[in-house]
Amino acid sequence: MDCTRRTFVSHLGLILAGTSPWAEPAAWAGAPSPLTAQHEEHSKLPMTTHASGNEEDKLAAAEDIWEKLVEGNLRFVAGKPLLRDFVARRTAVLAGQHPKVVVLGCSDSRVSPSVIFDQDLGDLVEVRTAGNVTDTVTAGSIEYALEHLPIRVLLILGHEKCGAVKTAASGQKMPTANLQAMVDKIAPAIARLQGDHSSQDFLRKAEEANVRQCATDLLADSPIVLRETAANNVEIIKAIYSLTTGQVRRLA
Ligand SMILES: [Zn+2]
Repeated sequence: MDCTRRTFVSHLGLILAGTSPWAEPAAWAGAPSPLTAQHEEHSKLPMTTHASGNEEDKLAAAEDIWEKLVEGNLRFVAGKPLLRDFVARRTAVLAGQHPKVVVLGCSDSRVSPSVIFDQDLGDLVEVRTAGNVTDTVTAGSIEYALEHLPIRVLLILGHEKCGAVKTAASGQKMPTANLQAMVDKIAPAIARLQGDHSSQDFLRKAEEANVRQCATDLLADSPIVLRETAANNVEIIKAIYSLTTGQVRRLA
């Protein structure tokens, strides 16, 4: 085993005290894929558990997973979610979890990914912050999922009428450093747009721009996200949820 990987796993083992179902041992997946010079340093990081496969198969798998999410969202929109036996499912996932999607979404109480995509226990890893922004801890949470779970899709999900985006657009100074850090993450997306910051049209554009900013931030801040997307093991999908219709719209 590569000693970098052994150190990493050992460190996680300490965190988890060996009791989490996430702590399933990962199989060594072989030599890293050829990466650009910029990625070489990242290729020294521990490999993931992703199965190998050709590039087309891996991308097709991600699109199939997205289609399943779309189907679930349409059930939610229609008010016809699947009937679920949560007790049986709770038992079924006791031995381990195998989600293929990690969602970076807003913490808004109206935008619960498992509900709006009509998914079951164990289907989605949800990392949620106000304005779906990332920092070191959220990036670490996503990296943890990519390292230990069979993730194929990293969905960055913004939404209509996002209070965090609206607050950032107001340009107000925040009363605490924590709140300021949150709006500062959104500010670059706002700064690239022109128009009346309080108009609905501006805010809708800002919500989309913020989703794209979050994807850019993740790729810049997370060597594991960069490595896995460069190798096509994970596809980043960007989308916006409409509070009005319940529908999720994929961004180009
Ligand atoms: Zn929000």
